[in-house]
Amino acid sequence: MKFALVTGASRGIGRAVALKLSSLGYHVLVNYLSNEEAAQTTSRLISEGGGVSTLIKFDVSDRAGVEKAIGEWQEANPGEYIQLLVNNAGIRKDNLMIWMELQEWQSVIDTNLNGMYYVTRPLLKDMLVKRSGRIINIVSLSGIKGLPGQTNYSAAKGGVIAATKALAQEVAKKGVTVNAVAPGFIISDMTGDLDESVLKKQIPMERFGKPEEVAALVAFLASPDASYITGEVISINGGIYT
Ligand code: NAP
Repeated sequence: MKFALVTGASRGIGRAVALKLSSLGYHVLVNYLSNEEAAQTTSRLISEGGGVSTLIKFDVSDRAGVEKAIGEWQEANPGEYIQLLVNNAGIRKDNLMIWMELQEWQSVIDTNLNGMYYVTRPLLKDMLVKRSGRIINIVSLSGIKGLPGQTNYSAAKGGVIAATKALAQEVAKKGVTVNAVAPGFIISDMTGDLDESVLKKQIPMERFGKPEEVAALVAFLASPDASYITGEVISINGGIYT
C-alpha cells in the first residue's frame, strides 16, 4: 500500500483530498492542528469507505514538531515511505496592509509558506532515493493575482508557487513531480465568513466550488496519467481569469 500525507486533512479541502486518495488505495496520514474530533471524523469516513488512515498531529509551522512527528512515523514504519505529499494546511488572517499586525503577517507566512518547507524537506530524501514521488501544493487564486486585504496570504501562496516551480526543476530527473493547485472560492470553514451571493458575481460559473472538485484535480495530479506534468500551477476557480 502506498502512503500519502495530507496536511490539514481534518476539514474542508484536506478532508475531501484524504477521502479521494483513500478511495484510490492510499493509506492516508491525516494531519491536523488541534481539531481532534474533526480529524477522527475524516478517519471514520475513510474506514467507512473501506480505506485505511492514521492520524498524525502536528503544527506545520513548528519545524521541530513536524520533524518529530514525521521522524516517529518513519521509525515506526521501516522500509515504508510517504510517496505522495499534499501540502494543504493553511490559514488566512485578512487585513489591509496599513492595519496589519506583525503577528497576522508572520502566522500566515509561517503556516502557508514555511510549513511547506518544514513538511516537504524531511520527506524528499526517500522520494529521491526511491525515484518516485508526488508533491502537490494547495495554493490560491490570491497567490497568482494578489487580492486586496490579503498581502500576507498572497505573499505566502505566491512564495509556494515559486517554490513549486523551483523544486520541480530540482527533482524532475529523479521521478518526483511537484505541482500546485490554485483554488478560487471553495465552500469550507475558511470561506464561511464570505457572502457567496455577492462574490459569485465575480465567478463566471456563478457559484463557489466544492472541496470534492479540488480533490478530483489533486487525485489526477497524483495519478500515473499525470506523470509528465511538473512545475505547473493549475487553477480551479469556476472560470475566474488569472
Ligand atoms: P479550512 O476548512 O479552514 O481547514 C484548514 C485545515 O488546515 C484544517 O484541517 C486545519 O486543522 C488545518 N491547519 C490549519 N493550520 C494548521 C497548522 N498550522 N498545522 C496543521 N494543520 C493546520 O481550510 P480549507 O478551505 O479547506 O483550505 C485548505 C487549503 O486550501 C488552504 O491551504 C487554503 O489556503 C487553500 N485554499 C482554500 C480556498 C477556499 O476557498 N476554501 C481557496 C484557495 C485556497 P484543524 O482542523 O486542526 O484546525
